[in-house]
Amino acid sequence: MKVLVINAGSSSLKYQLINTDNNDVIAKGLCERIGIEGSKLTHQPAGKDKIVIETPMENHADAIKLVLGALLDVDHGVIKSMDEIGAVGHRVVHGGELFANSVLITDEVKKAIEQCCELAPLHNPANLIGIKACEEAMPGVPQVGVFDTAFHQTMPKKAYMYGLPYEMYEKHKVRRYGFHGTSHKYVSGRAAAMLGKDIKDLKIITFHLGNGSSITAVDGGKSIDTTMGFTPLAGILMGTRCGDIDPAIVPFLMEKEGISAAEVDALMNKKSGVAGISELSSDFRDLKAAADEGNEKAQLALDMFAYQAKRYLGYFASAMGGLDAVVFTAGVGENDGNMRASILEGNEFLGIKIDAEKNKLRGEEIDISAADAKVKVLVIPTNEELMIALDTKAIVEG
Ligand code: ADP
Repeated sequence: MKVLVINAGSSSLKYQLINTDNNDVIAKGLCERIGIEGSKLTHQPAGKDKIVIETPMENHADAIKLVLGALLDVDHGVIKSMDEIGAVGHRVVHGGELFANSVLITDEVKKAIEQCCELAPLHNPANLIGIKACEEAMPGVPQVGVFDTAFHQTMPKKAYMYGLPYEMYEKHKVRRYGFHGTSHKYVSGRAAAMLGKDIKDLKIITFHLGNGSSITAVDGGKSIDTTMGFTPLAGILMGTRCGDIDPAIVPFLMEKEGISAAEVDALMNKKSGVAGISELSSDFRDLKAAADEGNEKAQLALDMFAYQAKRYLGYFASAMGGLDAVVFTAGVGENDGNMRASILEGNEFLGIKIDAEKNKLRGEEIDISAADAKVKVLVIPTNEELMIALDTKAIVEG
């Protein structure tokens, strides 16, 4: 089956057409600046030249029409008829407590996604617009919602509740949700396949380290705890996000700096993290280059990132009562061997030991643990689009 995977953002729309019979990407692309002057579509058919179409896109419905046009185009297209698209899989950021799995989209599901908009005001409205635009452009083609939060719905209550008055949970649904679920699910599943074991028998810690970073304890194939929380601001410090801080700092800064709740939120989300510490960049390559030239703040940012990630080795191994594998994925996790080594350093007592030569390789699924290590350390490129396509196919085929 050919599945069109859609990831709609507020002003962008990424897509991939995937053949789920062999997991090949038939075409992929990106619509940028939707609703803004200068909008353009970049379309990359497999095995052909990339094309860029600069044309106004007033809304997501325009964008979807352009994408379908590109897929069907005589020169740059990859399908002859719309009938070839068997289903559409949509990334939806927040499913709240309503979705523990991917679902076929119905009117009720759309209402439920709408209910979750207040939990993800930047993302869910865009995801809904993407769904509605596809329904209009492709009537009758089944649509499936795949939620970033769904994989973490298996967390026990003791892991997802915060120590606030219980009524804050009842009234406002304030609790830990966790994000990057599609990625954590995908890489933990691939880890089991690489190790030739049933995932039910494995205790895995997955490190999704990119611009946004989260770490998850996957016990027997289920997320039992994760670092992100009510929002994707929680956990370890990230590119520009502060991660966990003493919550009392928030009212303290509002008073001292004379800033509003929205301003302190922006400070924590956009001006903090390794960018805020280094006062240089959110890009780990820039930080490494600067640190190598003696920039102390850049070095501090990298040290903090490694240390905060390292904490979760002990935390999650202890929560699971053991550890079989550690997985690294996403921009930093897949490419930055120095960072992986810094995070794992000093954990031989847990059975973790890596092969320094293998740790230099990148871009492919690889076991980088030393031959005599008890815990396997794996680097697995994430593939959220493929996971969405496979979930979509499974649901459509029942
Ligand atoms: P996003 O969360 O936006 O999806 P990615 O997973 O694409 O992010 O990760 C982006 C990050 O990966 C960038 O901040 C960049 O610093 C980092 N990165 C990419 N390649 C390398 C590399 N070779 N070494 C270190 N960091 C890298």
